[in-house]
Amino acid sequence: MYKFDIGNITCYILFSIFLGGALGGLLFWLVFVPINLILESVLHISLNIDIAFLTKSLMFLGVLFIAVSTFNITFKEETQPLVNTNNNKISSNAFEIITKPQKHTQTTQVYERNQELKNICINRAGFQCEIDNNHKSFISSKQHNYVEAHHIIPLSFQDKFTVNLDTLENLISLCPVCHKAIHQGNREEKLKVLKQIYNIRKPFNISFDDLLKLYLSN
Ligand SMILES: [Zn+2]
Ligand SMILES: [Zn+2]
Repeated sequence: MYKFDIGNITCYILFSIFLGGALGGLLFWLVFVPINLILESVLHISLNIDIAFLTKSLMFLGVLFIAVSTFNITFKEETQPLVNTNNNKISSNAFEIITKPQKHTQTTQVYERNQELKNICINRAGFQCEIDNNHKSFISSKQHNYVEAHHIIPLSFQDKFTVNLDTLENLISLCPVCHKAIHQGNREEKLKVLKQIYNIRKPFNISFDDLLKLYLSN
C-alpha cells in the first residue's frame, strides 16, 4: 500500500532524476548519435546535439511528473472529509487511513451475545439450511456445512416491538444463497423465501402480512 510520507517522496525524486538522466543518455547514444553520424557522412550536416540539454529536459519532465502526482495526492486528501474533521494537520500515514475501510465500533458484550445465539441456532439446525437441507454450500473451517443465522424479524425493527427480537425463536439457519436472497433479492425472491421461512417458524405469532411489510419497507 502506498504511504504518503517524506521518505517516499525523496525516493521518488531521486529515482526520477536518475531515470531522467539514464533515459537522456540512452536516447543520446542509441538515437541521436547514429542519426548524427549518418547525416554527417551522407549530407555533411552536423546536428550539434547537447547531451546535457537532453538530460536536463528529461529531468524536468520527471520533476513535473512528481509535481502532478503530489497534487493528485493532495487533491484526494481534500476530497475526503473523514480525515480533515478533527485536525488540520495531516499525519504521515493519512493516506493509508484514507485507503483503509473504516472500522465499526460495537460493544463486545452485544457481539458475544449475538454470536452465541447464532451458534446455538445453527447447531440446533444441524448445520443445515432450514428451508431445504439439500442446500449445501461448503465445509467451513469449523468442519461443517457453512450456514448463517438470520433474524426472521430483522433487528433493525426492534423499536417497533416490545419483545426482545434477539432470541432463538426469531433465528433461523439458512444457506448463504437463501440468506442473500432474503436480504438482496427482488420482491418476488423475498416473497418466495419469506413464505418458506414463515412455514418453518412464526416468531411472536406475527402475521405473514405484517412480516412481509417489514421486508418490503427495508
Ligand atoms: Zn440476515
Ligand atoms: Zn437455502
